[in-house]
Amino acid sequence: MRIGVIALQGNVEEHVIALYRALKLKNLDAEVVGIKHKGIVPTCDALVVPGGESTTLGRLMEREGISPEIKKEANFGIPIMGTCAGLVLLAKQGDRQVEQTRQPLLGLMDIKVNRNAFGRQRESFECPVDFNGFDSPFNAVFIRAPCITETGKDVEILSKHNGSIVAARQKNLLALAFHPELTDDLRIHEYFLNMKG
Ligand code: GLN
Repeated sequence: MRIGVIALQGNVEEHVIALYRALKLKNLDAEVVGIKHKGIVPTCDALVVPGGESTTLGRLMEREGISPEIKKEANFGIPIMGTCAGLVLLAKQGDRQVEQTRQPLLGLMDIKVNRNAFGRQRESFECPVDFNGFDSPFNAVFIRAPCITETGKDVEILSKHNGSIVAARQKNLLALAFHPELTDDLRIHEYFLNMKG
């Protein structure tokens, strides 16, 4: 098994470490690779699109020819987790800012996003959130975080913070507004490893 983390910008190493720790907990043998150019995505069984800055990340993924590969693999049903900027990129629709800057989205999930939902008031904060299926709250780290403002019928809402949707799943796609790789709690990485297309 091979898990790819898009490694063009953002929180890459933290995801690699969290994935290896979660794999060990589950006694799974897998390799985690950073992806900087095309040709690697098709060899992966699961993918992570990390946080960072979604405009930059989206443009770099287009330039490197990685975006079309992700779209293709997503349709084959491999699990893909997008965190923060990665959530924005998974979305089919953005807010006005996204439209005005014409930032390229992967457009895979039937969700609409607000790119900087928690940005202006507080740049970054930590807060326990309830997560569907978890028996205790998950300590979520939000950094200039987006949120989901609309969901299609196939989308399962997994978590909300102050009424805003901050985690959702559509079949093989998992989107999180916060950063599970920045805490020691591995439950979300384990949840991701349990996902089947
Ligand atoms: N709001 C940022 C963006 O859309 C994402 C911030 C983050 O990933 N920490 O680019």
